[in-house]
Amino acid sequence: MSRIDKIVFATGNKDKVREIKEILTGIDVPVLSMKEAGVQAEINENGTTFEENALIKAKTIWNITGGLVLSDDSGLEIDALNKEPGIYSARYMGEDTSYHVKNANLIERLEGVPDEKRTARFVCAVAAVFPDGTEKVVRGVMEGRIGYKEAGENGFGYDPIFILPKYGVTTAELPAETKNEESHRGKALREISKVIEEYEKAE
Ligand code: IMP
Repeated sequence: MSRIDKIVFATGNKDKVREIKEILTGIDVPVLSMKEAGVQAEINENGTTFEENALIKAKTIWNITGGLVLSDDSGLEIDALNKEPGIYSARYMGEDTSYHVKNANLIERLEGVPDEKRTARFVCAVAAVFPDGTEKVVRGVMEGRIGYKEAGENGFGYDPIFILPKYGVTTAELPAETKNEESHRGKALREISKVIEEYEKAE
């Protein structure tokens, strides 16, 4: 008997729900977005770390839906900028500012910074709150460095300026499947899927 009868992903983003469905193949339960679960909530993301923010979202929704709730929080840390934009990645320069402008601004702020000091990483924390209230948070990281200009049309956000050394191109130049294999989010989702499968087995 499964202790989990549904999974709610605390996001409005359909792509994230699709990605976790593709990864969570070991468990045969419906995976729903907040909209599909009929949940609306004001979530106050006032944590100071990716982990705290992911857990705040998951707990807020779990209090309404119960069951298994997942959520994620992610962003870009640039070492030479004191790990900015960090947890403020979506809000950096304002939610409505285009990423073309945000990317240009970050490159400008890195003017004169040599290659070896342009290190950066994408971070993704995924939180799970289980039917019995148990909480678990995992972190996935993708290390790279910031380029000198935007390149590539794939992906979103800061992808056009984030160079993945293994491929020598930005994550916006990689096909989606390759990025998912390497990405912070892919790693964290695969890790949480293992935790969920363990929970299912531990009856
Ligand atoms: P959230 O976790 O959906 O709130 O998104 C955090 C923000 O981090 C996004 O809006 C992007 O600005 C940035 N971000 C997170 N992951 C990626 C990625 O894979 N590529 C580019 N930008 C990302």
